[in-house]
Amino acid sequence: MSVRRDGGCACGAIRYRLTSDPLFTHCCHCLNCQRQTGSAFVINLLIEADRVEPLAGVAVPVDVPRDEGGKQRIFRCPTCQVAVFSEYGRPAVRFVRGGTLDDPSGVAPDVHIFTRSKLSWVGLPDSVPAFEVYYDTNALWPASSLERLEAAIASAGTDA
Ligand SMILES: [Zn+2]
Ligand SMILES: [Zn+2]
Repeated sequence: MSVRRDGGCACGAIRYRLTSDPLFTHCCHCLNCQRQTGSAFVINLLIEADRVEPLAGVAVPVDVPRDEGGKQRIFRCPTCQVAVFSEYGRPAVRFVRGGTLDDPSGVAPDVHIFTRSKLSWVGLPDSVPAFEVYYDTNALWPASSLERLEAAIASAGTDA
């Protein structure tokens, strides 16, 4: 049973609702995420873009340079500039920032990635898979999430 997950920015102009559970939840310790958040890591809920239902406001895309070249598109509140979600080259999937949920304690990472740049004082639980860099989606994601991803990519392709 999926729980209701609403969230938004600091000023309240942007409000959203996730209409289902996420596909998978990342805790990313990479240097890009550290710089973008000014913190130790980011929590990203990966979910189909059409399952992020806008309740108020329109988040504005900002293209942010990444260390290895290229850009990452981060969507921010136009008023208070809080980042609510991002895209990594695939608009069908949003990476919703876990800290913008009304109840951030309602989600926990399914995987820790880019632990090669994890800050040494951050301890990780043995119960959650952790990878120096990235991981094999097919090996880690539940079958239901893989099916959802395939469907999201397919429908994005025909809409384009
Ligand atoms: Zn705002
Ligand atoms: Zn990262």
